Amino acid sequence: MSARLLKGAPVAGQIQQELQARVSAFTAKAGRPPGLGIVLVGDDPASEIYVQSKLKAAGASGLRADFEHLPATAQLTDVLAAVERLNRSDVHDGILVQDPLPRAIATGTREIFDAIAPEKDIDAFHPVNVGRLVQGRAVLTACTPSGIIELLERSDIPIAGQRAVVIGRSDIVGKPMALLLLHRDATVTICHSKTQHLEAVSATADILVAAVGRPFFVRRDFVKPGATVVDVGINRVGDAAAARALLGPDSPRLAAFGTRGSVVLGDVHPEVAEVAGAMTPVPGGVGPLTIAMLLKNTLVAAEQRTGSRTR
Ligand code: NAD
Repeated sequence: MSARLLKGAPVAGQIQQELQARVSAFTAKAGRPPGLGIVLVGDDPASEIYVQSKLKAAGASGLRADFEHLPATAQLTDVLAAVERLNRSDVHDGILVQDPLPRAIATGTREIFDAIAPEKDIDAFHPVNVGRLVQGRAVLTACTPSGIIELLERSDIPIAGQRAVVIGRSDIVGKPMALLLLHRDATVTICHSKTQHLEAVSATADILVAAVGRPFFVRRDFVKPGATVVDVGINRVGDAAAARALLGPDSPRLAAFGTRGSVVLGDVHPEVAEVAGAMTPVPGGVGPLTIAMLLKNTLVAAEQRTGSRTR
């Protein structure tokens, strides 16, 4: 069997197209476009790439997008001040502080996320938004998990009554993912680093979501034949020998070392395609949806703040 590929880009494109009419309606009514403010601290190259793609996607969807780049030497108070400026701004509806922060201030990450006004918290990390999600009345929901739900629903993968297993319990992916599946009437199990018999538990899943952060962690034995497998992992492997061991010596993907010096691998081993009914590729699966949902959350925050939200 070869699994049906669930590609993220076409679904992300569909979502962004649907947003356009709402962005235009908002802009006409409010006299300004929905606004996104992004704060990046330091020079992490991967973070800079993520921020640039978010800015580009926002611009292409008719959103205003502003970018404040603080140096790696910035103090916690500098970041909090940038957040406070955006909290007070009338033209910014969504605020995003790019994670991770430089090591020197990383312990302040929670304080920074907590400082973002809940109604502008488009990553939905604030306790108010997490609490709303737990109660099934979220307005803003974490982007990656809500993108996965869009992908499943728009690919006609049934969720209600299905057994779902989420590997990973992070606040950003695992926990909100499990809650979103639960609210759609799946029977949900959350697995993590201390879970016993992980393979056997995973193999009970009709929908298996891997958010572990370990390349090719999920092997064939983890997967029930015909299951839908969602690979959230984005693991940048910079060691060519390690990549060769994972991919095999003849893999065309090793060519990435010549151009980029690294290769990005998912949490799910490619052999899973022989067992699964459907699975998301890496790259090109979940990633594009995260950005689409970020734009959607910015629009929803704008509509909500100005009282023009109709759905
Ligand atoms: P994290 O490190 O915060 O959490 C990883 C989780 O995996 C933890 O809850 C841990 O308990 C679990 N885990 C670790 N080792 C395990 C093991 N041996 N057995 C079972 N569980 C184990 O990571 P995260 O922020 O949730 O991200 C997970 C992955 O998803 C990363 O590769 C990250 O880059 C990627 N990610 C992708 C997107 C996207 O847009 N596609 C967004 C966010 C994160």
